[in-house]
Amino acid sequence: MRRTRTLAGLGIAAAALLALTGCNSGSPSNPSGDTGGDTGDSGDNSALFEVADDVQLDGSPTFDAMTKRGKVVVGVKEDQPGLGFLDVTSGERSGFDVDIARWVAASLGFDESNIEYKAIASANREQAIVNADIDYYVGTYSITDKRKELIDFAGPYFITGQGILVGADSGIDDVSDLSDLNGKKVCSATGSTPIQNIKANYPEIDTVEYDLYSACVEDLLNNAVDAVTTDQAILIGYAAQYPDELKVVGGLFTEERYGVGLPKGDTVLQDHINQLFTDGGSVWQAIFDKNLGSSGITVDQPAVD
Ligand code: GLU
Repeated sequence: MRRTRTLAGLGIAAAALLALTGCNSGSPSNPSGDTGGDTGDSGDNSALFEVADDVQLDGSPTFDAMTKRGKVVVGVKEDQPGLGFLDVTSGERSGFDVDIARWVAASLGFDESNIEYKAIASANREQAIVNADIDYYVGTYSITDKRKELIDFAGPYFITGQGILVGADSGIDDVSDLSDLNGKKVCSATGSTPIQNIKANYPEIDTVEYDLYSACVEDLLNNAVDAVTTDQAILIGYAAQYPDELKVVGGLFTEERYGVGLPKGDTVLQDHINQLFTDGGSVWQAIFDKNLGSSGITVDQPAVD
């Protein structure tokens, strides 16, 4: 397993690279927002991984519930191009997180036709898992001790960090520290780690909150806020959708380690997913290349906890 990670393609470099590679098919003329090499996604990943047969997972109440139901219910994002995205025209879901969710489902014996997706906003994830509204969640979900009081995580399966998105002509060209945004209106999602970081550590920044980052991006495009902050991997997807209007600036201000959100105490399922990530060979890389390979993000698969 590759344990090192490099985070190249940061800040302006990322935006420049995105512009250079010219592969940001998520411009308004291509609303799928797919930042990877593929356009559209029917959910057919048979070239990347197989759907397992005759899966036994003794002692996992979550797996028992899925098996009884005959389908798996997965929590996702659907407004984050490149990571978790729903093309409302075609009905197709795409993104790195969505494919990770499909890989996990396949390892449990469920193909695309037996996956039900539920879009759940950042603030509602723990509750959805606690209430058993979903079997697991894959959507830019940072592993934190606070969240671990309510749920468990498998992973991490991806590492990024908090970044800044601004208007291309905003005059904000460099943010070396979040306090550079003092007195500015900065938007993020309710219940997310980036908004918590700003509120706790940067009281002079004015915050605006919505359930969804896409609402923040709308505000930014309309000059109703000065910046959007969340994980850089998410921001790069929006910048790729609007390459003339938006740019990612500054560095990474935190480390965000993405995990698969699981019901607390289902260690059998947790071990199964961690084993999948550890023994997955080239599958992780293939999923990364498909969805984020052209994004300017370079990051290796992290070791699981
Ligand atoms: N990774 C951060 C979090 O889990 C921000 C992204 C998100 O809200 O999904 O809070």
